[in-house]
Amino acid sequence: MRLAITNIGTIVSGDWRAPLAAGDTIIVVDAKIQSVGTASSGDVQACDVVIDADGATAIPGLIDSHVHVTFGDYTPRQRTVGYLESYVHGGVTTAISASEVHVPGRPRDPEGVKALAVAARRCFEHYRPGGMSVHAGSVILEPGLTGNDLGEIAKQGVWLAKAGFGAFASAYEYAPLIAAARAHHMITTVHTGGSSIPGSGAITGDHLLALKPHVSFHINGGPTAMPDRDFERVIRESDIALQICTAGNLRTALLCTNLAQKLEAFGRLIIGTDTPTGSGIMPLGMLYTIAHLSSLAGIAPELAIAAATGSNARIYRLDCGLLRAGKAADIVLIDAPEAGTQSDALSAIRNGDIAAIGAVISGGEPRFVGRSRNTPATIRNIRVAACRLVRDFSGARH
Ligand SMILES: [Zn+2]
Repeated sequence: MRLAITNIGTIVSGDWRAPLAAGDTIIVVDAKIQSVGTASSGDVQACDVVIDADGATAIPGLIDSHVHVTFGDYTPRQRTVGYLESYVHGGVTTAISASEVHVPGRPRDPEGVKALAVAARRCFEHYRPGGMSVHAGSVILEPGLTGNDLGEIAKQGVWLAKAGFGAFASAYEYAPLIAAARAHHMITTVHTGGSSIPGSGAITGDHLLALKPHVSFHINGGPTAMPDRDFERVIRESDIALQICTAGNLRTALLCTNLAQKLEAFGRLIIGTDTPTGSGIMPLGMLYTIAHLSSLAGIAPELAIAAATGSNARIYRLDCGLLRAGKAADIVLIDAPEAGTQSDALSAIRNGDIAAIGAVISGGEPRFVGRSRNTPATIRNIRVAACRLVRDFSGARH
């Protein structure tokens, strides 16, 4: 399919170093972005589908880097079906598993955790709930696992490893397994803050600096934060990615964001929701955290969006998260919400409002155009202006 998005008012690139891109048109061919900027009327007329953005803002599809997936579009923790598809209506086109710890009766022995990670990865390889890409299969590091075990599942395509839920007496005991997972090119992640399982202690700055994971999961607390004094040490003394989660401590989210900016580490700041969990299912969680960082920590909205898109993609080595030629065609059109005080998406976010979503395109396919069922309506009339295919992109309009 060839797709054109025309009359874009503002293009947010997803790149924190150059967060705005020039132009008003994006052309998509099949699953990739062909061009961002301007296009001739001939280029637009050659497209199968033309979406008129009516001056709205285009951003990369949001990447939620902390989602508790299990199997299928189902969360056992909140006993709800269809939550991932609902997140697509919150602008999330990619979810990254924070490990499949919510699977009821999950295995804890080496063969069991390996099988769980491989099965979860396989089950989501071609399954796209609502059009979302789900990167599942994050092996839960448990005592007894060896470097050879990790090598074996790496060959099966598992590339995520999670420390923090294993039955170790001390968090320092994760160090050799994290090093082994890194040696097998896995992205390693460590639970941060107060303990999440009975019997284990908190994971704080000392642990992070000793374990050297790629990502500090919910550095602002999941949901309980580590001591304030540890944030500056982790930023200064490591290159660990700083994941801010919606279902965490808001005060330390702002503290960490301000420090990351001051210490020139903003490129390491990434956003996830850490849902569904006890905090619930939050289809708009990414939009809330973007609005919180912008309205309360004074981060430019386009930079907060970069932390939710391009920075996540860079840390997790994904081919999405940027509105740039050659990248995955995951694009969201946002706007100021109807009947608010602001007249464009970025001003609304700066004002602390949730952006209204008017279209979600993932893998080059429009998933809906017009109205998200989860956000307020847009003020601009985002619509399908031309369509040569026998398709209806109105989604769940109601
Ligand atoms: Zn979590």
